[in-house]
Amino acid sequence: MPDDIYINKEKELFEALEQELEDPEKIVAVQIAPAVRVSIGEEFDYSPGEDLTRKTIGLLEQLGFDHVVDTPLGADINIYEEAYEILHALERGEEGYFPVFNSCCIGWRLYCSRTHESLCKHISPIASPHMITGSIINHYLQKKLGKPRKDIVSVSVMPCTLKKYETMERFPDGNPYVDYVLTTRELAQFARKKGLDLKTAPESEFSELLPGSSKDGVVFGVTGGLVEALLTTMAHVLDVEKQDEEYFRKDDVIKERTVKLGPYTINVATVHGFANFEKLFKEIQNGKRVHFVEVMNCPYGCVGGPGQPLPVTEEKLKARAAGLRKAADSKRTFATVPQENPTVKKLYRELLGRPGSENARKLLYFHKVQL
Ligand code: SF4
Repeated sequence: MPDDIYINKEKELFEALEQELEDPEKIVAVQIAPAVRVSIGEEFDYSPGEDLTRKTIGLLEQLGFDHVVDTPLGADINIYEEAYEILHALERGEEGYFPVFNSCCIGWRLYCSRTHESLCKHISPIASPHMITGSIINHYLQKKLGKPRKDIVSVSVMPCTLKKYETMERFPDGNPYVDYVLTTRELAQFARKKGLDLKTAPESEFSELLPGSSKDGVVFGVTGGLVEALLTTMAHVLDVEKQDEEYFRKDDVIKERTVKLGPYTINVATVHGFANFEKLFKEIQNGKRVHFVEVMNCPYGCVGGPGQPLPVTEEKLKARAAGLRKAADSKRTFATVPQENPTVKKLYRELLGRPGSENARKLLYFHKVQL
């Protein structure tokens, strides 16, 4: 593994990956972000929005990856932790804790650190789903396979060029959460370089060691998805009726709602695009009270990310967004909320303890931020 793992040039990235994949000592695991499944097909003559999860797993296995893991598993864990943090703050009446902003969008974190530095302390301390999945891959596979960290390689396929910055985030021991990031377009290029085609790839399933995610983890990849997940997860924790799930599925650039959750009334908002964020922020500065804000840099959220297939049109974005919401709904029979996901339960039982525990804070939260 190279010292400087922020590899941006495709040639160097592909060569480094080839070396890792050919090394018999290494276990190379790869995670797939939610938005990738409904857009990678555009590189191989499928329609935008078609859910190609199983074909993508098959393609990654053909490329030589040992374990394919779903980033929505990390999203499930992220939102489970977030729900607990927010509920504890509400319970303790900690007004100063709010508003909380999402950590999942790297574009937003970079923008915030450069334009609204004083707001950064309000960004959730819980690492992004991408980083959490990387951490789970590293720590759980070490434990299950008895391999040292140096022999586990954690790769990700993201809709986002900026996600490469997250390879610079470190645990206190100096290890990264994720080793290499490929964008959706780069995965297609890498496959073509190897003479592979998604059309002829077999269908396969996520790694038996870390399978599956809930509906909430998948819907993260489209605007409003994080707030939808947060509200359904909090309602489940409080054992109360969930509200406004459908409202946050609209594609509006700013969505706001006041939601009653058992004993609490909370204001939540979602916004995509920084010009739209500035409008909302002005209102917050003028006294608007909001408890949680989801900010996404890209149009329609991560489905419109800068690492996605080109050219992009409004119709394609709408098709990807609709396709991802449909893919999320297909998970309802498996698990609607993170707490119902058997893999999440197993990870808390075997590795993390409970939400907010010392181990959860060690493995799932930000440490040394280098952005
Ligand atoms: S919204 Fe855009 S910048 Fe933010 S994480 Fe998703 S793809 Fe990246």
